[in-house]
Amino acid sequence: MPVIIEPFRIKMVEPIRMTTRAEREAALQKAGNNLFAVPAEAILIDLLTDSGTGAMSARQWAAMMVGDESYAGGASFWRFEEAVKDIFGFERVIPTHQGRAAERILASTLCRPGHVVPNNTHFDTTRANIEAAGATALDLPCTESADLQQPFLFKGNIDLETLARVLVEQAGNVPFVMVTVTNNGGGGQPVSMENIRHASQLCRGQGVPFYLDACRFAENAFFIKRREPGYEDLSLIDIAREMFSYADGCTMSAKKDGMANIGGFLCTNDREVARQEEELLILTEGFPTYGGLAGRDLEAISVGLYEALDLDYQTYRHASTRYLGDHLAEGGVPIIQPPGGHAIYIDAAAMLAHIPRGQFPGQALALELFRRGGIRSVETGSVMFGSRHPDTGEEIPARHELLRLAIPRRVYTQSQIDYVVEVVLDTFADRHRISGVRIVEQPRRLRHFSAVFEILNHPAEVILESLPAAT
Ligand SMILES: *Cc1c(COP(=O)(O)O)cnc(C)c1O
Repeated sequence: MPVIIEPFRIKMVEPIRMTTRAEREAALQKAGNNLFAVPAEAILIDLLTDSGTGAMSARQWAAMMVGDESYAGGASFWRFEEAVKDIFGFERVIPTHQGRAAERILASTLCRPGHVVPNNTHFDTTRANIEAAGATALDLPCTESADLQQPFLFKGNIDLETLARVLVEQAGNVPFVMVTVTNNGGGGQPVSMENIRHASQLCRGQGVPFYLDACRFAENAFFIKRREPGYEDLSLIDIAREMFSYADGCTMSAKKDGMANIGGFLCTNDREVARQEEELLILTEGFPTYGGLAGRDLEAISVGLYEALDLDYQTYRHASTRYLGDHLAEGGVPIIQPPGGHAIYIDAAAMLAHIPRGQFPGQALALELFRRGGIRSVETGSVMFGSRHPDTGEEIPARHELLRLAIPRRVYTQSQIDYVVEVVLDTFADRHRISGVRIVEQPRRLRHFSAVFEILNHPAEVILESLPAAT
């Protein structure tokens, strides 16, 4: 097998700058040890997120030039709607400026206090929007996902047994069920077609609308093609169409598999729901034929959705993510197995076993990777998904303490990923010297964006003494 190369060549470059360790330490101090607050110019390799950070293609840039910026009825909207209907198949397509705007409109339209919304794992903004509408966001990941090291093929699946029980026990209180493809909170793991089909049947049996959080629909389609019997010979677009045929609607962030830098949409087959959603859309996003986006953004998305379904692109994307994962795992770093589609997740609790969970090992590791190599990653553990008890203030931890290295689409070369491997392996060798952190300031919701952290002082010798003696 030849090496799987990048299926594109570079037409435009953007310089990145190496910083000194002292500069990075100063940047961290200024940012309250929160990497979201570090200026992007101080970052060498930015693996914070794959959201809106991709490189657009020459075709996308060309399409932007013919963007129609009319307030109402612009041609860009018709092209956008045609592309979304062709792939997603829903009757009504509502453009929004991002995925979270679609979530907010959906939650405000369908959720009421006392409602429960099950999902394989709610994305942070999805959860926040459902909770802001007074409803409860319930995560139902499959049992296999609890074992981070076991390479099950579809660890993103929703737990069907529990879903069936919730639908009966909460009859009348479930405004919709959602399945996130791929399961981001669960480690970028795929959901099988069989699981989507069964979840849909359960919902339809109870008259509950079934939605997909479609952000990484094309990566999920590729996993189905490679891993699920019966789909080997289907094209990615046909697999995607089948996935959406089981759903009654979807939310989408075009910043992921829309291959664009901004945008999103909300789809439904329910005309009455769409009418109510469009009323809200006009309040906060804009007229229904642009929904908070410029005509040129709609054009970039229309082209990008098809590019995400290109088999050469997905083959390369999955190979490059796996390349990072395999090299880290070979060096002994505990990662979620098998590697997900868009990111590698390090099990920070396992790697930094000397740091108690209450001292946020994922955050501690993220800070160290930046300090050492200028790499920005993100904690996806108790800082992001944990919470505080509303009355007692007691910390409620997340399921896992993870660090995510997200790979922007079509941005970094293999040698830049080799550098990331080196920095992570060096950090791994020195892991006993890393100390935990404490939150000193935090907002009520989505605290990871703006919390301020303090690094706890653990002299390395004390930690080494507390480790079992080498035998
Ligand atoms: C990014 C993302 C969202 C939110 O989309 P934004 O465009 O960032 O608002 C929702 N769900 C999942 C799974 C995502 O990855």
